[in-house]
Amino acid sequence: MSRSAHPAGPRHADVLPEGHYTAPPTDLNALDPKVWAGTVTRNEDGVVSVGGIEVTRLAEEFGTPAYFLDEADFRARCRAWAAAFGKDADVFYAGKAFLSRAIVRWLKEEGLNLDVCSGGELATALAAGMPAERIAFHGNNKSVEEIERAVEAGVGRIVLDSFQEIVRVAHIAQRAGKRQRVQIRVTVGVEAHTHEFIATAHEDQKFGIALAGGQAAEAVRRALKLDGLELIGIHSHIGSQIFDMAGFEVSARRVVQLLAEVRDEHGVELPEIDLGGGLGIAYTSEDDPREPHEIAKSLTEIVTRECEAAGLRPPRISVEPGRAIVGPTAFTLYEVGTVKPLEGLRTYVSVDGGMSDNIRTALYDAEYSVALVSRTSEAAPMLSRVVGKHCESGDIVVKDAFLPADLAPGDLIAVPATGAYCRSMASNYNHALRPPVVAVADGEARVIVRRETEEDLLRLDVG
Ligand SMILES: *Cc1c(COP(=O)(O)O)cnc(C)c1O
Repeated sequence: MSRSAHPAGPRHADVLPEGHYTAPPTDLNALDPKVWAGTVTRNEDGVVSVGGIEVTRLAEEFGTPAYFLDEADFRARCRAWAAAFGKDADVFYAGKAFLSRAIVRWLKEEGLNLDVCSGGELATALAAGMPAERIAFHGNNKSVEEIERAVEAGVGRIVLDSFQEIVRVAHIAQRAGKRQRVQIRVTVGVEAHTHEFIATAHEDQKFGIALAGGQAAEAVRRALKLDGLELIGIHSHIGSQIFDMAGFEVSARRVVQLLAEVRDEHGVELPEIDLGGGLGIAYTSEDDPREPHEIAKSLTEIVTRECEAAGLRPPRISVEPGRAIVGPTAFTLYEVGTVKPLEGLRTYVSVDGGMSDNIRTALYDAEYSVALVSRTSEAAPMLSRVVGKHCESGDIVVKDAFLPADLAPGDLIAVPATGAYCRSMASNYNHALRPPVVAVADGEARVIVRRETEEDLLRLDVG
């Protein structure tokens, strides 16, 4: 299968097979547990349910389009990550994948930490009672106001992204009479996506400070001199939707090399390294993601081995999965509006949402699966493209999928694995009302982010 190499760059897109669609599945009614949230099943009446509630009932009560999030699955994934890394490592959930106050509370209860990268995400985390010391603050251009709020709140770490920011954070912390714990984000020259990674000396992207040319070593030198900063470690994040651990191996080796240089030059062994997030999930049955315990074992072995080689005490590791925790826990439920067969090509299935609730297909050429969930069907498979209702021909939700040939307006279809980077990247394009997120558990459904209303739109539009 030919896979296009991602043009190593800032987009952090997914690498996808080119011009490819899967062969029709043998059973269109089957739900692959790899891509569907933990409690999703098809009941005897043919209707799919999540958390014990049928989607037909959910659609009636909450409308479509809507995201339904399996709370038990979310919590189970948090616990699996926490258990896999144990007490000698820290798991930070990357809030940008999807953040709400309920999510923050669950993270807190399940013992995870939280990454934020804006004032808004920080406000959400604090509003829901996440202890500040369990929050890490990221971003390549944090405003002075955001840094002040983070320092004031007492966040556990700020990840420094530029030379300007080293001075800026030090100054703000000192003025507040504090010593802020910080990490320095370095670019290690590894760009990893799905099954491939590219290792180079230089990286052409906006994040971090380059290891190449002694830049990162210089950043450490400066940070160690400033009273307002307590440098606790080095941070690296190499890509997204990664299945192959080889990129982490190169990245960890390069970071450990820097730790050894820092020890040699300053006599300081920095106590922590953060290897970032980017662990892949199954969007279709063809994807084969690793389990958290395998990832933990592999990352720990890599770091331990590299540290032994460099004669360093292994630092405390942290990781930042976003997609791998929340991605698989939700699906988007749509109602079919029109079914338009194009002779010899495919059938266009229009739903009541689109690129405003899932931009990933248009933005990254992302792949998704889809299933008819309000009933079963014995009809033949029909090559379909699920599209939205926006004024754009690129408004595609699922590029190539098989749906039953008797699909009709009024049927409910669901796209699994939409927990990450769908609601969080949702827009009001065409003045669409952003869909709600409904948490479902043990036969109960609860709105955690409500649907936008026309009043919401008009409130912002002050005339
Ligand atoms: C985006 C991001 C993550 C999370 O990425 P996922 O692909 O959702 O795991 C973690 N760390 C940093 C610094 C990021 O920018």
